[in-house]
Amino acid sequence: MMLVLLGPPGAGKGTQAKNIEKKFGIDHISTGDILRSEIKKNSVLGMKVREYVENGKLVPDSLIIEIIKEVISSNGTKNGFLMDGFPRNIRQADMFSGMLDELGIKLDRVINIVVDREEIIKRLGKRRVCKLCHAVSSVNNGEDSAICPKCGGELIKRKDDNGEIIRRRLEVYEEETSPLIEYYRKKGILLNIDGSGTEEEVTGRIFESL
Ligand code: AMP
Repeated sequence: MMLVLLGPPGAGKGTQAKNIEKKFGIDHISTGDILRSEIKKNSVLGMKVREYVENGKLVPDSLIIEIIKEVISSNGTKNGFLMDGFPRNIRQADMFSGMLDELGIKLDRVINIVVDREEIIKRLGKRRVCKLCHAVSSVNNGEDSAICPKCGGELIKRKDDNGEIIRRRLEVYEEETSPLIEYYRKKGILLNIDGSGTEEEVTGRIFESL
């Protein structure tokens, strides 16, 4: 199964992606995770993208397309894939579509997780990521340090989960990424999923509609 996950930052794409990956045995490909890992390694790519990622701006399309080509050619596509955070604009979607055509692959579904703006801002402020297992969790207001409920590792705040940067990422989403909803609706493969409620409720809605 070939899937794309759409939705604003904080909609729960990463969390849901892990559940979909487990259930269907498909490869979860998160461009954000790939970029953060390159930044951490201080690789050539990491140095090129650091400023964009830390300031909530989109990394140039040419770099992202290279990453996707590399991932697809090294993972293969026979297990299927789940794109999380890609494509992020119409240019990327067009290039992706051309790439899939060349490989003779059909995109099955685009899952759009719908969450309203107020809820997103609230969630991003409380979002923490485990340093060890990378699971995402939420802390109570005012709580700075906490441990991961999944593995006991240290929870940290992403550098781009801060006031001004959150606002910029939401603007970038509105301007660049949200037109993809209409783009994929026209292709007849869009699934709108209500992203409110618990992780399990959202996962249930996704599984039901797939
Ligand atoms: P995410 O983890 O998906 O929220 O992505 C974090 C950051 O990585 C974004 O704010 C962008 O700076 C960068 N990024 C991730 N995916 C893409 C993409 N497909 N195109 C451009 N930039 C991206």
